[in-house]
Amino acid sequence: MRDLSSSDLLALWERGHSLHPLDRGLLVLDAALPGTTCANLADWPIGRRNRALVQVRCACFGTQLEGWTSCVACGEKLELDMDGRMIVEQGDGPEPARDETVEVNGRSFRLPTSRDLAKAITAEDPRKGAMLVAESCIVERAKSVTWSDEELEQVGASMAMADPMAEILLEMRCPVCGHQGESTLDILAFFWAELESMVKRLLADVHDLAAAYGWGEGEILSLSDRRRSLYLEMVRE
Ligand SMILES: [Zn+2]
Repeated sequence: MRDLSSSDLLALWERGHSLHPLDRGLLVLDAALPGTTCANLADWPIGRRNRALVQVRCACFGTQLEGWTSCVACGEKLELDMDGRMIVEQGDGPEPARDETVEVNGRSFRLPTSRDLAKAITAEDPRKGAMLVAESCIVERAKSVTWSDEELEQVGASMAMADPMAEILLEMRCPVCGHQGESTLDILAFFWAELESMVKRLLADVHDLAAAYGWGEGEILSLSDRRRSLYLEMVRE
C-alpha cells in the first residue's frame, strides 16, 4: 500500500467530490494500491473493498476511528470509538474466493461487487435494489426470472454470510436505555467525511501561510507536516 501525502488526499477529494460514493471508494483504493486499476477494483467483492478501505483509512488518519451514531431504541446520540485494526481482524476469516458463489433454490449467485451495486443505485426502493443486485449476480440467467420477497431475502442473507465484511457491524450498548444491538459502519461515508474535514483544515493552513509568506500552494503542501505546523504556530501566535 502506498502512503498518501497531503497533496494526494487533496487531489483525491477534488476528483471525487462530485462522484457517487461507490466511485469514490474505487478512486481511493486506486490511489493507495499501485498496480490495481479502478476497473479491476470494481470487480472485488464488497467485503474485500471494505477491508482495504479500512486499511487505507488507518494508514492516512491513524488506527482510531471516532464518530457518532444514534440509539435505535431511544434516539440518544452515541459516541463511536473503534480500533480499525480490530475491524480488519474481525473480517480476517478466509477471504471469499474470487469465483465464490452461493446457492439459493437451485440458482447460483456471485458475490456482489461495486459494479453490481452500481446497477442498483437508481432503484426506487430497497426491494427493487435487491432484485437488481440479484439479477446482476445470477450466474446462469434464465429467460425470465421472477423473485419472491423470501427468495430475495435468502439471496441477501447467503451473500452476507459468504462475505461478512460486506457489512461492517459494530456491537453497541446504549448507556441511557440499556439497548444492545448492532450498528453498521459505512466506511465509505465515514472515510469521505474525514477526508473532507481534513481538506478544509489543510486549505485553511495553506491560506494562512500563503497570506503570511507569499508561498504558493505547491510549496506549502510539499512541507512536512511538522514544518507546516511550526510555521502555522508562528503565523497564528
Ligand atoms: Zn438508547
